[in-house]
Amino acid sequence: MSSDQTTGVAGCVYLVGAGPGDAQLLTLRAVRLLERADVVVYDHLVSAAVLDFLPQKAERIYAGKRRNEHTMRQEQINALLVRLAQEGKQVVRLKGGDPFIFGRGGEELQTLAAHGVAFEVIPGVTAASGVSSYAGIPLTHRDHAQSCLFVTGHLKDGSADLDWPSLVRRKQTVVIYMGLSGLPDICRQMMQHGAASNLPVAVVQDGSIATQKVVTGTLADIPERVKTACLKSPCLTIIGDVVKLHDELAWFKPAMP
Ligand code: SAH
Repeated sequence: MSSDQTTGVAGCVYLVGAGPGDAQLLTLRAVRLLERADVVVYDHLVSAAVLDFLPQKAERIYAGKRRNEHTMRQEQINALLVRLAQEGKQVVRLKGGDPFIFGRGGEELQTLAAHGVAFEVIPGVTAASGVSSYAGIPLTHRDHAQSCLFVTGHLKDGSADLDWPSLVRRKQTVVIYMGLSGLPDICRQMMQHGAASNLPVAVVQDGSIATQKVVTGTLADIPERVKTACLKSPCLTIIGDVVKLHDELAWFKPAMP
């Protein structure tokens, strides 16, 4: 454990999952750590509702990063966390969802470990679980899906680089993080690899908060529907027969029309 040379106080970094948006989904451990944090370093995915929850006394540092708008490079964030902890601070590194699921949390911890900085990981409700719950779409169901795959639709060189045969298995739900801009390509590739064109798809914007929107369709028509509905990031895509349950199970009433 590193300690501050001047105060002798040991700093620590708490890598905390903030959940998908609704502040009520923070864990008790997350709330307790936020209450006593000296500084909170947060990403753009952390919702306004969760930020309202931070104590006044905590210094807040916005670390970005939106697609194509990287406020701080990952190396800069890593170095910042090391420096703050070495100054003897109790640092909360707050990330949307769960820090170990498409959150680059592991990379940040590797830098901390290399510098001998103490850390702890506090899991959060990941988007797949939180967003699907608030959209009324169970990820597994005995009649529809026995497995569930989480993948990133992040584009590499303009197209999604995914293991398509594994995506088109029957009785499986596919959850795509960061898949909004790649959606037309993803749907086309899945159909080319044998998925039915009428396979149900839901795209959920701002899951679990007042601006939540759910757009449903099929592999064939969802890109057009999403375009018409003007959905904006963050959006989670859920593909599979479980999407049929949305009409029956949608329970969350977003505050806005
Ligand atoms: N660590 C996060 C994921 C970070 S990747 C987690 O565990 O949830 C960012 C992607 O997560 C977004 O592009 C989107 O696909 C998804 N996402 C996160 N929060 C969301 C929300 N409230 N509504 C819809 N999608 C969300």
